[in-house]
Amino acid sequence: MKIHEYQAKKLFSSYGIPVEQHILCHNVDEAVSAYEELNMEKVVLKAQVLTGGRGKAGGVKLVKCKTDVMNYAASMFQMKINGLPVNKILVSEAVNIDSEFYLSFSIDRKNRSVIMMLSSEGGVEIEEVAKYTPENIYRINIDPFVGMPDYLARRIAFFLFDDMDLVGQIVQILQNLYQLFIENDASLAEINPLVLTKEGNLVAVDAKMTFDDNALYRQEDICFFSEPTEEEEMELQAKAKGFSYVHLTGDIGCMVNGAGLAMATMDLIKLNEGYPANFLDIGGSSNPKKIFEAMRILLQDDRLKVILVNIFGGITRCDDVANGLLKAYEDMHADIPIVVRLTGTNEEEGRALLRNSNFLVAETMNEAIRKAVNQSIKAG
Ligand code: GDP
Ligand code: MN
Repeated sequence: MKIHEYQAKKLFSSYGIPVEQHILCHNVDEAVSAYEELNMEKVVLKAQVLTGGRGKAGGVKLVKCKTDVMNYAASMFQMKINGLPVNKILVSEAVNIDSEFYLSFSIDRKNRSVIMMLSSEGGVEIEEVAKYTPENIYRINIDPFVGMPDYLARRIAFFLFDDMDLVGQIVQILQNLYQLFIENDASLAEINPLVLTKEGNLVAVDAKMTFDDNALYRQEDICFFSEPTEEEEMELQAKAKGFSYVHLTGDIGCMVNGAGLAMATMDLIKLNEGYPANFLDIGGSSNPKKIFEAMRILLQDDRLKVILVNIFGGITRCDDVANGLLKAYEDMHADIPIVVRLTGTNEEEGRALLRNSNFLVAETMNEAIRKAVNQSIKAG
């Protein structure tokens, strides 16, 4: 689960990580009042959207007077950044930047530990630094039984600074951010940039955190921050119905039984140069009601150009599936083609049921996938 910058900064503050003064605003009027309340000449307006690269997209703006706050806030609220609408902005104290650093903790699965990354090239995309000047990123795996004791934090601090005051500041930040990361089951805690101000203070100007969804059951305070997007909403709905559903970016809706077959279906769609819109595993039962529910979830998605139903009948009976599909078709309005491939238990009975219907019936997986991809191409 991702959280907004303003939410992450709330957590930072409660763990003693310095952040600049800021006020959350929901409209232009609030932004103007926030500017007056902060009572500083320069402020930064920052769009609160759950995506990175806001700076590049125009979602971070340094402004110097009330009129500009009004104008830029107004245009920011009209913006979409990576497809996400801007419903909230932060009006923040503008800090005087001397230099920008990068600091993060994330999970290193390969080494089964937390990994810390630190770089004096902050502010820019860390992926770029990793690509062109990887030697400028200092990485260290944190032993979970050791954590971030003083000696380790100091050793890391000396990588960036020799001034003892700054060493002291970064040691605090390293230890506090690590504690925040561990105690809240985070999967990422990133400060980019961590700014050294002209006045000599370290401040987290940006804050990004994501949390392990599987640990949310024991992180009540973090759940409170949840703002599911439309896509996540769909995933939650599907989960509640007992499906496993993953939202993807394509236009071929998929209904498959079994995770393995679903993965193979995705692969074959890609191989045929099509784009799956989702991964949907309806599981092992052949209850027609389940088919009906799965169809309802798919038909809600207006990106779809075609639906591909790929069922292997083991315990699942193909005639049950066919009945579920027919019922769904009768009750729901489907104006896109639906390709069906049924194989296994009672496949002939299943196909017979679909014979005089609007479904495009295929006998093999390859045939079904080619049909679906062709339909998606035809629909443009
Ligand atoms: P991101 O683009 O979504 O990562 O947003 P950031 O919060 O990291 O802001 C992008 C960039 O804007 C930073 O790297 C800074 O260079 C600049 N910036 C952000 N806040 C301030 C500020 O208070 N003062 C100044 N001078 N620049 C800022
Ligand atoms: Mn940033």
